[in-house]
Amino acid sequence: MTMTQQQVFECAKQGKLWAGNLIAGHPEQQNKLENRTPIDNSVIGFIADGDANDINAAVQVARNTFNQGEWRGLSPQERKVVMLKWAHLIEKHSEELAALDCIDAGKPITECLNTDLPATIDTFYWYAEAIDKLFGKIAPTSHQELGLIVHEPIGVVGAVLPWNFPAQMFAWKVAPALAVGNSVIVKPAELTSLSAYRMVELAYEAGVPKGALSLVCGLGEKVGEALGRHHDVDVVSFTGSTEVGRLFLKYSAESNLKEIVLECGGKSPQVVFEDANIEAAIPHIMAAAFWNMSENCSCGSRLIVHESIKKTLLEKLAVAVKEWKVGDPRHADISIGPMVEQAHFEKVKSFLDSTLKEGGKLIAGGKVHHELGAGWYIEPTIFDEVTPEMSLFKHEVFGPILAVTSFKTDDEAVALANNTQYGLAASFYSQNIHRAMQIAQRINAGTVSVNGFSEGNITTPFGGFRQSGFGGKDNGLEAFEQYTQTKVIWFIHQ
Ligand code: NAD
Repeated sequence: MTMTQQQVFECAKQGKLWAGNLIAGHPEQQNKLENRTPIDNSVIGFIADGDANDINAAVQVARNTFNQGEWRGLSPQERKVVMLKWAHLIEKHSEELAALDCIDAGKPITECLNTDLPATIDTFYWYAEAIDKLFGKIAPTSHQELGLIVHEPIGVVGAVLPWNFPAQMFAWKVAPALAVGNSVIVKPAELTSLSAYRMVELAYEAGVPKGALSLVCGLGEKVGEALGRHHDVDVVSFTGSTEVGRLFLKYSAESNLKEIVLECGGKSPQVVFEDANIEAAIPHIMAAAFWNMSENCSCGSRLIVHESIKKTLLEKLAVAVKEWKVGDPRHADISIGPMVEQAHFEKVKSFLDSTLKEGGKLIAGGKVHHELGAGWYIEPTIFDEVTPEMSLFKHEVFGPILAVTSFKTDDEAVALANNTQYGLAASFYSQNIHRAMQIAQRINAGTVSVNGFSEGNITTPFGGFRQSGFGGKDNGLEAFEQYTQTKVIWFIHQ
């Protein structure tokens, strides 16, 4: 049975939402952690307080299932049938899943319904459809030999997820990892485990063997670390902060040298050249800066503008920002919900104070909203005169504060854009195609979008340069590389 948004919100009001461990499908007796919504800080239910014992149990089941071939032993066509059924069930439950992400993360319901869930569903269908179209290779040998280059599932995969796009990040990792035949253990962010729990239940309903997919909820330092340090996990695919990404490299080095794939933070530039179509650029600049409360890894949080058009552009942005209404994300007209939790709110708020102290000029926003309830709301804010020395220019804020810096020459624009430890995404605006080609090649980022803000789509690989991550890409056929290993089978004619 699926729930409507209103039913989900009603269950939340009664504190009845639950996300527990599903290890080989069994909901064991579990310790609990309170789950509060950032909308008004009320208790909406509980999640399992998992630990290393749960991870040990999940890994054992995952390994046994992998070795026995219950899932990986199926033909790609057979796995595809199950994955398509799962995709269909997720589609059928999309309103419920959207509402769960809304209440859990404080994301605007309109965004969850119209962006996150369609992208999630698309990801499941895409990988289900791709799985029986992957081929190996034959090496160019003499007639006395035959060399096959094959890609095999890697074994036991740990997927460690962030809180900002709960359903979508689940899909990005789990769909390709499971489709190729691995056993997968999912560790959702402790702040947003509800949609992951529901999607694993739907996987079992679709026919995914219970041993091939487990969910372990709980704290990063307990569950995440146990997964990272486990000696029988073959790869951990992690999306989250650069600080925690670093820890996974340490866990791997100190355990079994499991592969680690990191999708981490960003401080992405948006560069507006003097020949840009400003009117057309405005909605894209705003979306890059403020979409999902800027709790977005590819958020275009640094606006680098040619000095000749800065005044005009900022006047227009100061008007446009008023349309980004702050408030209860369960309402359809809201674009900016609360920050995900109090600690995060305090961190974002500290950038408002430090930027003013360091000489930033407030152009729009700048207030925190307490009157909206006990949640943590921050107005979309724009600061001009931000220099590369200031904290706002350097650090990932993950909240709605846009830093504006001006430039005079193309070289200066590129130097400012690349002046960051990160390299996840970048966008720029120019009507000159020759200039666009040159600039796109000179910017250090995994995704560079021209005349609009985009992360590409499911067909294109997504991932960063530098401290934004490495080791593999999400999305596209490239994602399969994270979850497979290449083997050579060499026949000798006798
Ligand atoms: P986070 O690093 O705090 O948490 C991510 C995951 O790691 C969670 O599941 C958490 O429980 C776990 N974790 C936390 N501490 C741990 C520890 N000590 N050991 C093991 N696991 C631990 O990140 P977040 O706050 O959930 O997400 C925000 C970050 O994610 C931002 O930096 C953002 O840029 C990044 N992000 C990146 C991408 C991308 O594709 N590059 C996408 C979304 C988010």
